[in-house]
Amino acid sequence: MIPSKLAYHRPNNVNEAIQMLQNYGDDCKILAGGHSLIPVLKQRLNDPEHLVDISGLTELKGIRDNEKSITIGAGTTHAEIANSTAVQQHAPMIAQAAASIGDVQVRNFGTIGGSIAHADPAADWPAVLLAADANVVIKNTGGTREVDIDQFFLGLFTTAVQEGEIITAIRIPKTAFNRNSTYVKFPHPASRFAVVGCAAAVAKEGGNVTAARVAFNGVSSKPFRDMGIEKGLKGNALNADTIAAATKNAAAEVSVMSDHFASEKYRRHLAGVYARRALGAL
Ligand SMILES: Cc1cc2nc3c(=O)[nH]c(=O)nc-3n(C[C@H](O)[C@H](O)[C@H](O)COP(=O)(O)OP(=O)(O)OC[C@H]3O[C@@H](n4cnc5c(N)ncnc54)[C@H](O)[C@@H]3O)c2cc1C
Repeated sequence: MIPSKLAYHRPNNVNEAIQMLQNYGDDCKILAGGHSLIPVLKQRLNDPEHLVDISGLTELKGIRDNEKSITIGAGTTHAEIANSTAVQQHAPMIAQAAASIGDVQVRNFGTIGGSIAHADPAADWPAVLLAADANVVIKNTGGTREVDIDQFFLGLFTTAVQEGEIITAIRIPKTAFNRNSTYVKFPHPASRFAVVGCAAAVAKEGGNVTAARVAFNGVSSKPFRDMGIEKGLKGNALNADTIAAATKNAAAEVSVMSDHFASEKYRRHLAGVYARRALGAL
């Protein structure tokens, strides 16, 4: 299938792109790497009259290593993030997640901003950014706002980004828990999307857990932090027994998805298995 006829626009900068979004309203879609949007257009699940291609905007690209955080431009590709030494050093789970996405072509075209804007429940970024306590920088005609990642994902393919807005960057704080973090997933054998993915970030002092963030994707229609696991870990040493106790009821508080590939029961089981694998590696 080919998409319906539409007008293609290539703005010179982010402000121009935002102005175009304002002008065309809900008849308009942003195009970044195109690896989620183009399939949607081809299936005519969305039929915009205008496409605003932001893939050439240098303002949105690159990774900056700041004093207290790492700022990843929304237009940075998965491959660039996987290869960043700053990301590998300060938040290894983010580099691991980036390297696990799709195949080489997907990683070279797909962008972090496009992925989180799309908010596919099986995408890898949402869980790692929740575990990382990231902030999403969003720009509109009025200026810039930052949204805490805990408030960013609202539901299936739904986020806090509003009409006329562009995600410009993602900020990852340089914390002890992000330095000690990992991401593991059960990849779908065809697409490599996560059937179940678990990101875990743990800070320890004197051998005991002082802060833990554990998040899942692929399990529920919305990525989520598992507060039961996080509470179960806090204050304890991290060993096979404490991990087993904390993860015994993984994903207990969410409604778990079911499809022809993985039933609800199997997915819930996998959530526990992958949480134990992630935490066991820290
Ligand atoms: C074969 C295949 C395998 C894949 N495997 C995986 C996988 O294993 N794991 C995984 O996580 N993903 C996977 N993906 C998805 C891939 O990561 C996409 O690149 C990503 O989901 C979307 O990023 P994009 O830059 O291509 O965005 P686009 O497709 O261009 O856009 C996606 C959506 O985001 C909006 N958008 C884009 N950029 C912005 C922005 N800066 N601000 C606001 N809105 C914006 C667009 O309007 C659109 O609605 C796969 C895709 C394919 C085709």
